[in-house]
Amino acid sequence: MKVLITGGAGFIGSHVVRLLVKKYPNYHIYNLDALTYAGNLENLTDIENEPNYTFLKGDITYEPAISELFKTYKFDNVIHLAAESHVDRSITDPLAFVKTNVIGTLNLLNAFKELWKDKFEGKRFYHISTDEVYGTLGETGLFTETTSYNPNSPYSASKASSDHFVRAYGETYGLPFVITNCSNNYGQNQFPEKLIPLFINNIINKKPLPVYGDGNYTRDWLYVIDHAIAIDLVFHKGKNAETYNIGGFNEWKNIDLVKELCKQMDVKLRNPEGTSEQLITFVKDRPGHDLRYAIDASKINRELGWSPSVTFEEGLKITIDWYLSNANWLKSVTSGAYQNYYEKQYS
Ligand code: NAD
Repeated sequence: MKVLITGGAGFIGSHVVRLLVKKYPNYHIYNLDALTYAGNLENLTDIENEPNYTFLKGDITYEPAISELFKTYKFDNVIHLAAESHVDRSITDPLAFVKTNVIGTLNLLNAFKELWKDKFEGKRFYHISTDEVYGTLGETGLFTETTSYNPNSPYSASKASSDHFVRAYGETYGLPFVITNCSNNYGQNQFPEKLIPLFINNIINKKPLPVYGDGNYTRDWLYVIDHAIAIDLVFHKGKNAETYNIGGFNEWKNIDLVKELCKQMDVKLRNPEGTSEQLITFVKDRPGHDLRYAIDASKINRELGWSPSVTFEEGLKITIDWYLSNANWLKSVTSGAYQNYYEKQYS
């Protein structure tokens, strides 16, 4: 079986690529990635020489190259993660998000449809999405698979649009698909613009920890490897044309999460208690900031038997330990030096 994974050099994608390459030696895993600032092949050095793995450098927004790739490799299945993924960047450059997240997804859908026409037996287009498409919750309630879409940021609007296109291709052309909407991920190899690695990096470097507004924004957090395990499960066992929500049953107010991180980092760095908390700085709120996201992941739990394998305390500990013992990785991504790796390795 030939499986195309898009965005496999990114944070979540690299964990999915590794899991499938190792677990399914009889599949061939193709990793298609444009290697934007968020894509880093150093995330995959341990599997880059595996015989069932191929890296393909390419941009999903460029239609001719995408349709050519599908004709050449005849991918049976697609697991689509490539995206512009950072909300703050979407506020300053929404069009980049429409190009990659909407048009890029359409290019993949069209190439997949053209390749298999209506002979879709045994084929699947699996689209990875976010809980942010549902908009915001008040103090109570949970997002379920039937919650109406109500995106509030250009990022979530672009992801919502791509979800709708995937579903529409299922209805209109009979394209077999599955969609998952997941909560915030954390773990090793996350680019340090996202909250947890940004704050770990800032604590290491004694830089301010910028907390939006009053810090009462609430998110559900899931360890990235648990997300990768869920993706493997949905890819193989999920029902066609269904959506599954994936979450950690693990809600945190940002300010509480930051304080917990500070506490654990102080222990690791042998700082006197309370040292890192002094770095917390409240900053002007992000426009359109959603108050609370929380996922009801009972459908995937009930139907596919998935639940998180680690607690938040365990996941956070693994994550902190990883960033502390991979100072070179952090240095290389913050300086952009990792981008030279591709040139060295693949040119
Ligand atoms: P990421 O930003 O770490 O990685 C995105 C990857 O896509 C990078 O390797 C990048 O090079 C690649 N990419 C970007 N534009 C491309 C293009 N035009 N062509 C080809 N490749 C391109 O993102 P992530 O956090 O790993 O998220 C992966 C997916 O999961 C996204 O679709 C995101 O919406 C979704 N998601 C993320 C989270 C989260 O907390 N990070 C939660 C739920 C869903």
